[in-house]
This record gives sequence, structure tokens and C-alpha cells, in this order.
Amino acid sequence: RKIPIPVNFNTIDIVFQDDKARIFKENLLYEFGPNKKVPVLDLMKSSNIYVKEFAIWVYEKIFVNYTAKQWGKKPHEIDPSVTARVPIYTGYDNRYFHDKYQFIPIDGYTSVFKKLLSNSLIEVKLNTDFRELIKIDFDKKEIYLNGIKFDGIFIFTGMIDELCNYVYGELPYRTLDFEFKTFDVNFFQEAAIVNYPNDFNYTRITEFKHIHPSYTEKTTVAFEYPRKYKVGDIPYYPYFTDEAKNIYLKYREFIKDFNQIILVGRLAEYRYYDMDDAIKRSLEVFNVDINI
Ligand code: UDP
Repeated sequence: RKIPIPVNFNTIDIVFQDDKARIFKENLLYEFGPNKKVPVLDLMKSSNIYVKEFAIWVYEKIFVNYTAKQWGKKPHEIDPSVTARVPIYTGYDNRYFHDKYQFIPIDGYTSVFKKLLSNSLIEVKLNTDFRELIKIDFDKKEIYLNGIKFDGIFIFTGMIDELCNYVYGELPYRTLDFEFKTFDVNFFQEAAIVNYPNDFNYTRITEFKHIHPSYTEKTTVAFEYPRKYKVGDIPYYPYFTDEAKNIYLKYREFIKDFNQIILVGRLAEYRYYDMDDAIKRSLEVFNVDINI
């Protein structure tokens, strides 16, 4: 059966018999209060036997195998903030995010970026490795752009380990293979995203038509296959282990006093930013750190 994720009271009503559903909901409300978000790992720690029974069900059915596919690890072996992104909700709300305002750009993201980049002061170079243009002398703390010393601000949003020539080795990332398929049907599935925690090698299928209206009789969906990152792949996710965090901190230390370099974004800061966090962070950095 397909059920709402993040798990909430609607999920409980679909999956469990009436009596059991009532007991789980009552105990969740008693322990956590109404309309609260509880990470699965916190739920597992509960001493309430009904909450614990429910937690084990959620953990086993929804988290353990999905997390194995996504990260190659058990939920308790990765940073708790990762599984806490999809908390259990003690109320009736099927939405993935609970932000007050949830929109996508009316003409899609492409037009947003086209407009941002249309400024005459911005030059875009595609298919160019930054190292072809920029040479960095970390000892002297000097940057050369096309062979000429550059004294301006250098904002870097790529991988910090690559920026620093891997002096402390490679940081780990996870990558995804996206498989796009187009079908001759109006809709492929009933929601924008359907997760497959226990079956198949993919974690989820996204159907874009649910997110952004498109007036066509066909539909395009994307299957996501997570796997280990190797140099040359797209580093979609930083990989949170204590060892990785320590390597990252060494890199931060390595360029700490190199004031010309500003690091921002998921890869440069080795943080699991969502789109909204990434934009917020770039605005904060611009206000706080950049004084042009
Ligand atoms: N997760 C899970 N089962 C699900 C959804 C998420 O186990 O059905 C876990 C998994 O470890 C995943 C994490 O929660 O990596 C965060 O999920 P999210 O949907 O936020 O991942 P993203 O969209 O960033 O890939």
C-alpha cells in the first residue's frame, strides 16, 4: 500500500486497525503533544512501550532500508540530523515541509537563473574547470586569475577538498544516478514523489508534472539510484561521519586566514543545505562577510 510520508496520523490510520491506531496516536500525543515533529531516532529512545512499538515499525519499514540504499549505512551510523529531516508528525498533515510559504518560480528555475546571469558584469564559462582559470598559492595566500594576480573577492561554491588540492585527502560524498523516463500516459503516479524504502535499487521516483503544471499527454519521471561518489561524479550530498567532519574542519583551518576566499554552499561548507537554506545562507554571507 502507498502511505503518506513523513509518517503522520493519516499514515497510522491507513496502516493499523482502529484500536491499535488509537493507542499509538494517544500515546504519541501524551509523550510529545499535538502537531510536533519527532525524529525517528528520538522516537526509538522512548520508554513508553506503545511509542517504542510504533517507532520500531517506522524504523524497520521506512528508514532502515532506504537509508542503506541512500547512505550505505544504518540510520544510527550517520549523523542524526540526516534522518531528522523527515520527522514523524503528531497530527494530520501530509505535507513534506511545513513552511508557511511554499512556492516554485512561476516560469521555473531556468528563467530565474537566466535573469540573474543576464547582468553585463557577469560572464559565464560553461564546461570549464576553475583550475584552468585560477591558480592559488596557499603559502603566500595569493590568487592568480588567467596568470595575473587577483586581489578581489573569490567566492567559491565547489568542493573544499578540490579547492585545497586534496592536501588532507578526499572528503566523502554520495552521488545519484538519475534515470529519466517518459511515458505516454497523463500521469505515472499519484504524487510528486513516491519513495521505495524496501524494494528496488532506486530510492524514489519524482514526477515533475505534479510540481509544475505541464500541458501535455505525456509525463516524464526520474528514478534516483544513490551510490558512492568518486572523483568526476556529481557530489550531490556531503557524507556525514565523524571522520569526514574532522577532515572538513582541517580544510577550514587550512584556509582560515585566506580572507580573499569566501566559501558558501553545500559543497564548500560541507552542509546539507536545501534550496531555501542555500539562498538564505548566500544572502547572509553577502551581508556579513563581503565588503566590496
Ligand atoms: N529517509 C528514509 N526513508 C524515507 C525518507 C527519508 O529513511 O522514506 C531518510 C534517509 O536516510 C534520507 C534522509 O531520511 O537520506 C533524509 O531524507 P530527505 O527526503 O530529506 O532526503 P533528500 O531529499 O535530501 O535526498
